[in-house]
Amino acid sequence: MSEQKVLFDVQHLQTYFPILGGVVRKTVGYVHAVEDVSFQIREKETFSLVGESGCGKSTTGRTILRLIEPTNGKIIFDGQDLCQLDKESMRKMRRNMQLVFQDPYSSLNPRMTVRKLLEEPLDTHFQLTPAETEEQIKWITEAVGINPEHLERYPHQFSGGQRQRISIARALITKPKFVVADEPVSALDVSIQAQILNLLMDLQKNMELSYLFISHDLNVVRHISNRVGVMYLGRIVEMGNTEDVYQKPMHPYTQALLSAIPKRDPLEDKKRIRLEGDVPSPANPPKGCSFHDRCEHCMGICSEQVPEAREMEPGHFVACHLFNK
Ligand code: SF4
Repeated sequence: MSEQKVLFDVQHLQTYFPILGGVVRKTVGYVHAVEDVSFQIREKETFSLVGESGCGKSTTGRTILRLIEPTNGKIIFDGQDLCQLDKESMRKMRRNMQLVFQDPYSSLNPRMTVRKLLEEPLDTHFQLTPAETEEQIKWITEAVGINPEHLERYPHQFSGGQRQRISIARALITKPKFVVADEPVSALDVSIQAQILNLLMDLQKNMELSYLFISHDLNVVRHISNRVGVMYLGRIVEMGNTEDVYQKPMHPYTQALLSAIPKRDPLEDKKRIRLEGDVPSPANPPKGCSFHDRCEHCMGICSEQVPEAREMEPGHFVACHLFNK
């Protein structure tokens, strides 16, 4: 995987949201949703962001698609700096970068039939004849497993799993290179989750797609990812090949997260690390390491300096002062 070309290169990304206050709705502060995040995604790979809700993973996914404007940083996609593109160039670029949402029901217009839902992205990005449109619809319905006889139905006439297939078809009909999948299976029954995950993996192979997969479910992430980044309060605290991170977690937060996964073997010797306290507010992040209030290894320097990410083993990065001695 390491020889694959880098498709996305995200450098020092920052996304802040203004907090408005007072009668005149003046900016009185900022929510630091994403704070100095850097990562790369290679062609045909799945890079996952994992962490508790509110850690900034969904905002990161939307910011790299420029659905949210970044406050700072660089987003290089296929050699082009997306932040330098004007509206029209960005619109054209969007056919290469798509988003699959968590809740397929709210992301699909209930007044449109499946056929219309699939035609819309084709009309936005291409000028196809009716026969060509029909051909593309036939191809994608077959690829994602939608019954072609159901094309005139509306989203509410489908089950959750089928609706997610329609969402995926809508995202992939423009043949993108890259997809952000934001919690794509967490709204589904467990029995359906595996089907949708396997579908995403098959489509990746057949269409040579790259994914940014966003999830709070550590088992799902392990199943689907080549590499993983663990986020806490807007920062990536650990990143590496999935099996390296899962088998040898180094950051105290990653260790605590992974210790909460139920044991596969009841006799396995595994101690759960319980985190004390709550995640601090991103509107008022703590000084130094953002995890220091909850870390059992906290040292003097931890409340003073933000730890830099260090490569501890090839491709395995950790941002923690324990490793900066
Ligand atoms: Fe804990 Fe300090 Fe490492 Fe932060 S930098 S995770 S507080 S040891």
